[in-house]
Amino acid sequence: MAAFALAMLTLTTAQQRPAAVKTVRLYVFENGSIRGLDPKLFNFTREELKEVDFTNTSYLIVHPKGTLMFDSGAVEDSHFKGGGPVTEGIMTATKPLLPQLASAGYTPSNITYFAMSHYHSDHTANANAFASATWIVQKAERDFMFGDKPEGIIQPAQYSALKGAKTKLLNNEDFDVFGDGAVVIKSAPGHTPGHQVLFVKLPKTGPVLLAGDLYHYPEERTTGRVPTFEFNAEQSKASRAKIEAFIKQAGAQLWIEHDIATHAKLPKAPAFVE
Ligand SMILES: [Zn+2]
Repeated sequence: MAAFALAMLTLTTAQQRPAAVKTVRLYVFENGSIRGLDPKLFNFTREELKEVDFTNTSYLIVHPKGTLMFDSGAVEDSHFKGGGPVTEGIMTATKPLLPQLASAGYTPSNITYFAMSHYHSDHTANANAFASATWIVQKAERDFMFGDKPEGIIQPAQYSALKGAKTKLLNNEDFDVFGDGAVVIKSAPGHTPGHQVLFVKLPKTGPVLLAGDLYHYPEERTTGRVPTFEFNAEQSKASRAKIEAFIKQAGAQLWIEHDIATHAKLPKAPAFVE
């Protein structure tokens, strides 16, 4: 009986483990939208922006050596009671995150690394679900998140479980996640104290930079304007200059996480980008 139970357990574990991949792939998850934003918050007039609304996105990178979840949505999965959409303030999500992850063949227990571009609550909604992964975070960001009185666009309850997570703490530095240059966390502070972006080398698409909130609108990139609510606007400008130089040298595409036009063109999980 014990042997049978063990055999069943082994079988179940084997079934739950996704097949290894030979090349890097990127899954895009849909985490809803933000509507009704005031362009003035971003130092624009309505006329200067092609599109004011945001899309909310998170990503799973699957590498032959493991997985990295980047960002975690704007609405907690537990708030979907009997289906969507769920509207919370200016944020609306049509579907929860974990079922999208499952559609790609993964559960949070399959996630090797978890990282967020930054602590704003439109990126942290399901962070607690990934506390069994190794959390990659900049020290300045973590210090703010678990400081005495974190203020601003922040909901500490959404990420409280990360406090005890195995953590790869970075000090304003980049981190080559799987050691082969294919998936690299890059420090880009300013929007928050330890904001970071993610560089991914895809076999067919080529190099891509997931920009987090380094920019929100494509028009920020062309005008050089930064939002009114940056943690440190000068630092944001310096990070933008550094990342722009990097993507030029790397020949990378830049995907602005909140940009509707960028994400409209991308396949969504369970499909993936190669
Ligand atoms: Zn955001």
